[in-house]
Amino acid sequence: MINGRIPLAVPVVGAAEAANLQACIDTTFVSSVGPFVTEFERKVAEATGGIEAVATSAGTTGLHAALVALGVERDDLVICPSFTFIASANAISHAGATPWLFDIDESWVIDLDQVEAALDRETERRGGDRIHTATGRRVAAMLPVLTLGNASRPERLRALAERFGLPVLVDAAAALGGDAWGEPIAALGELAVISFNGNKIATAGGGGAVVGRDGDLLRELRHLTTTARVSADYSHDRVGFNYRMTNLQAAVGCAQMDRLPDFVAAKRRIAARYAEALADLPGIRGFPQTPGSNCWFSGVVLDAGAPMAAAELAARLNGDGIEARTFWKPVHLQAPYADAPRVTMDRCEDLWSRIVTLPCSTNLSDSDQGRVIAATRSALGSA
Ligand SMILES: *Cc1c(COP(=O)(O)O)cnc(C)c1O
Repeated sequence: MINGRIPLAVPVVGAAEAANLQACIDTTFVSSVGPFVTEFERKVAEATGGIEAVATSAGTTGLHAALVALGVERDDLVICPSFTFIASANAISHAGATPWLFDIDESWVIDLDQVEAALDRETERRGGDRIHTATGRRVAAMLPVLTLGNASRPERLRALAERFGLPVLVDAAAALGGDAWGEPIAALGELAVISFNGNKIATAGGGGAVVGRDGDLLRELRHLTTTARVSADYSHDRVGFNYRMTNLQAAVGCAQMDRLPDFVAAKRRIAARYAEALADLPGIRGFPQTPGSNCWFSGVVLDAGAPMAAAELAARLNGDGIEARTFWKPVHLQAPYADAPRVTMDRCEDLWSRIVTLPCSTNLSDSDQGRVIAATRSALGSA
């Protein structure tokens, strides 16, 4: 609780983060090289099942550099779900490509049946490339998003990628600490990106990491994120990026990685308690959950039978000193992507305005969660 208000999702930081930051000051290693960066990369690789991790300045910059490393070029199409945080689509745009937007399935991840049908119907093989027949544009990659820590079935995703010859970059920005149906996140595609922004399950203040299992690809990615420098005499062999994480960020990130198992346990416990305590309310659903999900966010979906709209429930809870919010507005409804190519969007268009996220900080106390549950029940007329 902060001044009597229960926040939605705040970072939980303390003495361990402070001690690591002090060590950066004491040693003057505050910038983009330092022992915490190396240690942080090792911890993230281990937690995601990657052979290596490359720390970046943000999840978004990690996605951008990863797309370039995978060979995405200007005017390419990259397959992406519309129901995601806008950064997924922005990274595609930063690479000069265009997101080809798809709907979601019942787990709120990209609808692979719809993707497969569209690839069959609208694309053809030319040489080694997958070409969108009507526009002549190359389909360069798939960018599935692990929404709330949920994942497509790994074998289905891999089979589809293989059939159409597409590399997979997984936006696992908020999925750290979980797995995908028992498989490590780094095994889902060629590369996966984690975010350490303040609202994610573990934070570095800001930052990201790219993980994978292909040493050559990860080396190329590291090269790109560190200005593509080939020697100490200011020689560079590509248009690279300055996307490095600082030792200060990694100092916080290292302390957070040590607490990750506790954070995941807390997120799952909070989600399970909401699900149980609100299950009997008419017209209310919890969030879907695939096996291994880290349960990044908790909340409810208000269906047609609910006594009020989601925005009204959020307003009522905020009036009671409980921070509750709506969730991602689909990318195809955002101004910069009004003209992005897309398939039908029935499910995400119906869903997005029905979602209310509820307080789920990893330090949420039992009594505060009890207060959120009581207020939600009261607002929905079933106290
Ligand atoms: C947070 C998030 C990002 C962006 O990460 P930043 O570190 O904030 O740049 C991208 N995709 C998804 C799904 C996210 O949740």
